[in-house]
Amino acid sequence: GSTIGILGGGQLGRMMAVAAAQLGYHVHVFAPERDSVAAEVAAKFTCASWHDSGALIEFARDCDVITYEFENVPVAPLAALPQEQLAPSPRALEMAQDRVREKRFIEEAGGRPAPFAVIDHDSELTDAIDRIGVPGILKTRRDGYDGKGQWKIADRQEVYRARVPQSGCVYEARIDFECEFSVILVRNRAGEVRFWDSTRNRHVHGVLAHSELPAPEIVLQQVAKARELAQMAAIALNYVGVLTLEFFATASGPVFNEMAPRVHNSGHWTIEGAVTSQFENHVRAICNLPLGDTSSVYDKVVMDNLLGSEALNLAGHLADGRAHVHLYGKAEAREGRKMGHITRVG
Ligand code: ATP
Ligand code: MG
Ligand code: MG
Repeated sequence: GSTIGILGGGQLGRMMAVAAAQLGYHVHVFAPERDSVAAEVAAKFTCASWHDSGALIEFARDCDVITYEFENVPVAPLAALPQEQLAPSPRALEMAQDRVREKRFIEEAGGRPAPFAVIDHDSELTDAIDRIGVPGILKTRRDGYDGKGQWKIADRQEVYRARVPQSGCVYEARIDFECEFSVILVRNRAGEVRFWDSTRNRHVHGVLAHSELPAPEIVLQQVAKARELAQMAAIALNYVGVLTLEFFATASGPVFNEMAPRVHNSGHWTIEGAVTSQFENHVRAICNLPLGDTSSVYDKVVMDNLLGSEALNLAGHLADGRAHVHLYGKAEAREGRKMGHITRVG
């Protein structure tokens, strides 16, 4: 059989590996950390630094196609690999790794991000805040996830405590939104694009807590425009696989938040709630197989993340016989860490 290589060792890779195994593929995980929850369900595991080009080249030799479950995989070392093996292309990673590039790319495609200012040095903070106003959010340009690397700025005084890292920050206006939603699409090598239904997403302290269908009316009104933008982005990147764009639904239309060049937490409900899950369609797309139907199977679906110690009570969660419980097998239930999720359908 063929082998799919996954760069990154987290729960997204784990669920991707399960979908790949169901289609008869072998999975080879490459990740720098020893305790990889994706490697636990894969046939092979290479534990090495992203910068160990020898290990990467050897990994690539074992794989027919290579994909990512983590958007912050360093791009430079990937240049040593046969580019036709990588899906999506590293260009999509590059774009999504830098909030400023990403926002400019989206503006060029006709989308609207929150008003923002680029900050390369501490001395530029006050000027940025004067231009954009308060309240706002200061975000590192690179390496942020789950709300890490972000500071809420309620008044000008707070900037004196902020320290801008070498790679810079972006200061953006806090958007007054009615709700958040994401557009998740899959695009294959022939350019065919399919979308899943958009859920309403609720975040707590910058971390996704909950996704649900049906989304409110305002999302249904704005999703067509958001999809159009997501499709333009996918075409511009010649994207292959699952791509996610996050949006704020506001009184004046959809505002782009950020892009993830991968399967997404707000799409976990598709495992039980859609005909074909985001994980399976990602595998189908990168392996050049026919795409599956992305239709929802139920009108009502809710997905709740299990954060930190919430995940410890497995028997308690299973007491609801209709709950689809997923645990990622992480050793340490640190506070706020994504440990699993529960989907309820119908
Ligand atoms: P992840 O990649 O895990 O989704 P992240 O660390 O990249 O998260 P963002 O998506 O930038 O973080 O922000 C996390 C959440 O914080 C958003 O989903 C939203 O709830 C809130 N948020 C971020 N930026 C803004 C903004 N400009 N206005 C209002 N709320 C915001
Ligand atoms: Mg992000
Ligand atoms: Mg986000």
